[in-house]
Amino acid sequence: MNDFNKQGIYFLPLGGADEIGMNMYAYAVNGKIIVVDAGYGFLNDEFPGMDMCYASPEFLENYKEDILGLFITHGHEDHLGAVAQVWPSLQCPIYGTNFSLGLVKERLSEYKLQDIVPLISVNQQPKVKLADFEIEFIPVAHTIPETSALYIKTPYGNVMHATDWRFDDNKLPMLQTDYDALKRAGEEGVDIFICDSTNVMVEKEQTSEEDVRQSLIKLIPELQGGIVATCFASNIMRLESLVLAAHAAGRTPVLAGRSLITNVKVAKDCGYLTEYNDIHTIDQVEGITSDKALYICTGSQANYRSAMTTIANDESKYIKLSADDNVIFSSKIIPGNEDKIERLQEKMMAKGVNVLTEEEYPVHTSGHANRQDLKKMYELLNPKIVLPVHGDKKFIREHKRFALSCGVKDVFSAQNGDICFYQEGKIECIEQIVADIMGVDRRRSVSLGSALVKNRRRIMFNCSLFISAVISKDNKLKDLQMSSIDILEENEWYVLSEEILKAVRPLVEKKLCEYTHRNSVEDFIRGQIRRRVYSATDIKPVTMLHIYWEDEENNPSETGE
Ligand SMILES: [Zn+2]
Ligand SMILES: [Zn+2]
Repeated sequence: MNDFNKQGIYFLPLGGADEIGMNMYAYAVNGKIIVVDAGYGFLNDEFPGMDMCYASPEFLENYKEDILGLFITHGHEDHLGAVAQVWPSLQCPIYGTNFSLGLVKERLSEYKLQDIVPLISVNQQPKVKLADFEIEFIPVAHTIPETSALYIKTPYGNVMHATDWRFDDNKLPMLQTDYDALKRAGEEGVDIFICDSTNVMVEKEQTSEEDVRQSLIKLIPELQGGIVATCFASNIMRLESLVLAAHAAGRTPVLAGRSLITNVKVAKDCGYLTEYNDIHTIDQVEGITSDKALYICTGSQANYRSAMTTIANDESKYIKLSADDNVIFSSKIIPGNEDKIERLQEKMMAKGVNVLTEEEYPVHTSGHANRQDLKKMYELLNPKIVLPVHGDKKFIREHKRFALSCGVKDVFSAQNGDICFYQEGKIECIEQIVADIMGVDRRRSVSLGSALVKNRRRIMFNCSLFISAVISKDNKLKDLQMSSIDILEENEWYVLSEEILKAVRPLVEKKLCEYTHRNSVEDFIRGQIRRRVYSATDIKPVTMLHIYWEDEENNPSETGE
């Protein structure tokens, strides 16, 4: 076990280094550790029943005594979503701004941890000193209030950890960058700059959040019929813009979706949105006509339990879409969700709904640094080494190339699970650990590599088959039945299963006469039935076999495959 005691800085990305999502990084100096973020990643359709995943904290659990704190950079899901699942392995105080901690608290309370976990706000005291670390929260502009870059000072060098930021010079109070603090860090000397790669491919100037606000205020009053807008629940500035646009259109802003309601509550607790008394939840305004409301809902990523998906599937109790209604996606597409979102939009367009996205209307802007921002930040910080994270491999590669072309002296990239070591101007990967990924299955967590997940996927594509049999003490087949889930339509399945059972029963009876071993009888029954199902349907179903041996004490015997 590494004791992290050499004279230098250890950097260990557990998640988020070469992908977008599930950010979790650890730093170790003189045997003590701090952890930055504990976020969710987003899963695609390959993982039935699960939308989210996170980096396993199992490795850190071995060092529980040495972990000084978990530092939350901001309130996005990919940075704090998994805080409740991860915390039991870390058992340390959590540091963050009020808004981030408000969201952390909501997460913790879902797991009944809210009274156990020490939460330490940095709003009044943005510098935290712990052992040989000094961690400063520096405000940066992003798409959620109170986002920070972490400036981490150690005896062996200084790190700027800024995974989500952009420059956006506007007057919105929730979106300010502390240029002076960044400049000061640059003057003191930044050794490693852990940097956002999300928009490294973006050359063109990015719209300011303030311009998006003006464009929504102009667009929404021009629309007729019902209007549903979806944005990230935590994007409080955007939400405020939608509220202002609703006012301009003489509509009442109505929230749909639990996370949106939670985020608005946390925002109000932190002093944001307090002047708007007319933001209602959907159940408060039952009966409002759709031309008098601006519905603001969750589900911009088409997650299958979200409000937007429910609405698109015509399953919402309150919001019904009809031809000529409007749906505004005031949001980006998280990589990996493209297909899901497109399917959702297609479904609505098929009904005649106008779907408005950032492709045609300025209804969204990114919260991540484009090339100009990156260049400007390199100039401000003048880092010895740029270490790109928060982007997939192609983006990380491009970011390395781009940083060098801007005159950065050294670049380095890491993969999840790498233990990197920095000493006197040089960084290298000295060891690799297995970085397991956990899927969030309702309230439980399961390793994405587990047999359970593999079987679920198999069931999804191959359906399920159940076989049951009763065998008497004198080895006679008393009963043999089979059923399935969705191999065929019910009536077709009935015909096929009768046919198969008729053919298989005498074969099993014969096998029982020459009975040698129970396992061989069980394999025989399974094999005979599966083979026939396969030849009739081309499907190899996941099969459960229940056999009741009447002379067996611990019946029934049950085997799956
Ligand atoms: Zn973010
Ligand atoms: Zn992020």
